[in-house]
Amino acid sequence: MIDTHTHLYLTDDFGEDGADAVRRAVSAGVTHFIFPNVDVSTIEPMLTLHNQFPDITSIGAGLHPTEVKENWRSEMSKTLSLLDNPRCVAVGEVGIDLYWDKTFRAEQMLAFESQLIIARDKNLPVIIHCREGLPEVLEVFGRLGGNLPETIFHSFTMDVASVRDIRRHTDAWFGINGVVTFKNATQLRDAIPEIGLDRIILETDSPYLAPVPHRGKRNESAYLPAISACIAGVLGVTPEAVDIVTTANARKVFRL
Ligand SMILES: [Zn+2]
Repeated sequence: MIDTHTHLYLTDDFGEDGADAVRRAVSAGVTHFIFPNVDVSTIEPMLTLHNQFPDITSIGAGLHPTEVKENWRSEMSKTLSLLDNPRCVAVGEVGIDLYWDKTFRAEQMLAFESQLIIARDKNLPVIIHCREGLPEVLEVFGRLGGNLPETIFHSFTMDVASVRDIRRHTDAWFGINGVVTFKNATQLRDAIPEIGLDRIILETDSPYLAPVPHRGKRNESAYLPAISACIAGVLGVTPEAVDIVTTANARKVFRL
């Protein structure tokens, strides 16, 4: 089982406990971890935890949409210096987030477009954070005229119609996390069969979005089996089948 999106390195949330959180997850059956970057300040803690577990962790390079401000160009180029690291397996996380703040909508779209182009040129998949921003994401896809890198919609929580809208542009992968276990997440559970197991990858998005029965508490990668079990229930397959297929999917998209 691979946690394709986890921020165990965030010291505000994990302090010195990040390494133990990795060990707890390994005991729970997680075999590999992808650490997406957020901004310039997260580079150092991310590399520190990665270097403690170099064989079972990989990293992403990118500037998160909520961190896109006036100075986004210089911040973005600093975060993209991580692309030189041989264990960098993706551009991310990048995208559009208009949930918190719409001030930098145009800049978010430009930063997203730039980072998509870099991912395409480097032949790396792109980890997309999209919150209240699907029209903008699809507009940026349109600007690139269908010439896109491999796309991963991380923390996917949208409905069947959104899956179809995305697929008009790109044969995306969908990162499913603890939201799928939430009582009110009916539209997401309805979208799971539409996505199909062969395009799903597992993630926790730790420390956020802990699955039931840990909802509301700090999330960690050790809770990944709860997500796998929930998806198995929705699809009427065994958790082992979900583990096998989603692990193969993650290995393929991130070339692990
Ligand atoms: Zn994230």
